Amino acid sequence: MSSIEIRKIGVIGAGQMGNGIAHVAAQSGIAVVMLDVKEDALVKALATINKNMDRQVSKGMLTEDAKAEALGRISTSTDYAAFGDCDLVIEAATEKEALKISIFKALVPHLRADALIASNTSSISITRLAAVTDRPDRFIGMHFMNPVPVMKLVEVIRGIATSEETFQSIAALAEKMGKTIATAEDFPGFIVNRILIPMINEAVYAVYEGVGTVTSIDTGMKLGANHPMGPLELADFIGLDTCLSIMQVLHEGLSDSKYRPCPLLVKYVEAGWYGRKTGRGFYDYSSTPPRPTR
Ligand code: NAD
Repeated sequence: MSSIEIRKIGVIGAGQMGNGIAHVAAQSGIAVVMLDVKEDALVKALATINKNMDRQVSKGMLTEDAKAEALGRISTSTDYAAFGDCDLVIEAATEKEALKISIFKALVPHLRADALIASNTSSISITRLAAVTDRPDRFIGMHFMNPVPVMKLVEVIRGIATSEETFQSIAALAEKMGKTIATAEDFPGFIVNRILIPMINEAVYAVYEGVGTVTSIDTGMKLGANHPMGPLELADFIGLDTCLSIMQVLHEGLSDSKYRPCPLLVKYVEAGWYGRKTGRGFYDYSSTPPRPTR
């Protein structure tokens, strides 16, 4: 089966995932155009990539020359017209279905007829997102893990209409980016988040019901289950807004009350306490080390 060689990609959303995807793609020799609605998000994303590459240089994983070349492959824009010569566009904007649908509708007229589209969504149906485009056969889920430069996995999700050529092209791209793929069917949360996010939600219930404090829950799972991060620390790292959105997708998509989001998680998100990215979640990041908030 043939596959399309991806030489230039567009990335929509320059948040923690978008900048990580741009970083790894550029380092793998691929030209990248990064787009966001906010100009300052693009400035911040480039600074983050620069800082993360510096860390790789200091660890001897990257040379200064290779860093300069990789940074030279990244350009930014706030206009979809910049995607006209891309082989693939990866959408990594906020986890809201209505927002993603409006992005895909606006994006499609600017693409080459043979260009592929991938969504980095954590949980939303690939088939439903693909259906709003003119190319469901060329649409796929490409779910990177956070932080993208460090985590080896890319979950690849075929929608019902995704072609074998699209799948093979994305599998080859993931390999070129130094990643290993796990293939998942298009059901809510796919594999990783179907299992991970209910565990995080259960940890929030354990705080909510007073079973344990933030510290005792995280210590319990780190030392008791050999997890590198506790579930609440991990929730702050992922973003509590993203965790809640995924729980809502599981709850609605699987129609099972066992997936109901914990009211305390809802309350934190209502307060704007999204975790690390806003400076406060289950931990307060204004001090070092971060202080548990409960
Ligand atoms: P984030 O909040 O860090 O970044 C989202 C970015 O999207 C922001 O910069 C925002 O300005 C931008 N954006 C919003 N509306 C936009 C629009 N209309 N056009 C262009 N850009 C727009 O979020 P994130 O953690 O990077 O998550 C992005 C996606 O990746 C979500 O779908 C999320 O579910 C998924 N994801 C997240 C993780 C994680 O651990 N955080 C892991 C895998 C996948």
